[in-house]
Amino acid sequence: MKVIFDPDIPEDFKEDILKNIEEENLGEICKVCGSDTLYVALIDEILDVKCYECGTSYLEIELTDQES
Ligand SMILES: [Zn+2]
Repeated sequence: MKVIFDPDIPEDFKEDILKNIEEENLGEICKVCGSDTLYVALIDEILDVKCYECGTSYLEIELTDQES
C-alpha cells in the first residue's frame, strides 16, 4: 500500500513506521473501501495508521517503541 505521512512526523521515524506496517501484513487494499493508500497521523505520542480514504484505523504505534 502507498503511505502518506503527517507533515509533523520526523523523517527519522518514517523507515521504522514502514517496517511496522509491513510486519502487520495489512494487505494491498483497505478491506472496507478498497483504497490502496494509508495515512499515518501523529496524535500526541501515538502514530495512528489509517485508511486515507475512509479513516478505518489499522494500527497504532507508540513512538517509545521505535527505539530498538
Ligand atoms: Zn478505507
